[in-house]
Amino acid sequence: MRQDLYQRLRCPRCLARLGLTIEAGPPDHVVAGWLDCWSCVEKYPIVNGIPRFVPVMNYADSFGLLWDSFQQAVLDSALGVTQSRDRFFRETTWKPEDLRDKWLLEIGCGAGRFTEIAFQCGANVVAVDYSSAIDACRRNLGDDPRLHYVQGDIYSLPLRPGMFDYVCCFGVLHRLPDARAGFRELPKQLKPGGQLAVDIAPRRFFRRFGPTAWFRLLTTRLPYAQSMRFSRALTSCLLPLQRVLGRMPFIGRWLQHQLPIAPVETLSACRADLVHERACLAMCDRLMTQHHQPGDVESVAQWLKDAGLEQIEACCDTLIVGRGRKPRGQTTQEPRAA
Ligand SMILES: [Zn+2]
Repeated sequence: MRQDLYQRLRCPRCLARLGLTIEAGPPDHVVAGWLDCWSCVEKYPIVNGIPRFVPVMNYADSFGLLWDSFQQAVLDSALGVTQSRDRFFRETTWKPEDLRDKWLLEIGCGAGRFTEIAFQCGANVVAVDYSSAIDACRRNLGDDPRLHYVQGDIYSLPLRPGMFDYVCCFGVLHRLPDARAGFRELPKQLKPGGQLAVDIAPRRFFRRFGPTAWFRLLTTRLPYAQSMRFSRALTSCLLPLQRVLGRMPFIGRWLQHQLPIAPVETLSACRADLVHERACLAMCDRLMTQHHQPGDVESVAQWLKDAGLEQIEACCDTLIVGRGRKPRGQTTQEPRAA
């Protein structure tokens, strides 16, 4: 943990400044120690260089285990593709050159697929995840003065509000117990003039009542290892079938998309084992995550409006995407205690 991050951290319960006790590492690269809130007498550990603000066991445990299992299968750099980069800039409409030297907050970074993109553009990135995926993210992307990792909760972010030029949150909101409550915390982190981009899975009849929903009745109740084995076996069955269907003229593409497996045709040039791992990850993600609360365009537009943002856009891409900017004249909410 570096000083740049420490200056931005606040107690997630009362937003007071935190005292720092260093147990290992120099002051600008703390490896182990404690953050103390003098206001509500709470202590938060720093373990492996990452400040931790969540219970050791939490509802996102399966995410952490998933990212641990599939660390490399999500990174553009590992796959040799631009899939995550394309999605990042398509959904945000931000320009790569605008991110240079700016501060970007990514909520729900997972193993770092989008963190990597923002970092490559020259941004100072604070990557936050609730689960132990934050450790996979750090293993994937390593240490750099512009990369900061936090294990924290979207519902009570351990950050001083109003400090970020950009805030993004992808693939997270529909996996929360309460998507709207999670979203409400994001605009608070923007500086005046700062920009927000989020996405959320759309409501789809087939997803709600199709095979995936039936499989989830089983897989969300199984122990993690069994659920993982089931998801892997299902992927091994469906991936070859998906390829065969893809070669059929006219209706092949449509039939492909009816299968309860994520399409991987954009990865056709990648190594077969990595494509298989990526398909397994997507399957596990579909079948094993505890919550699935999709949204709709109207709700996302209303969330952005309720947050007082301007230049609001909400549209349905593959996912529902929402964007907005904090008005330049809007004063930033001050911490409750500083
Ligand atoms: Zn406190």
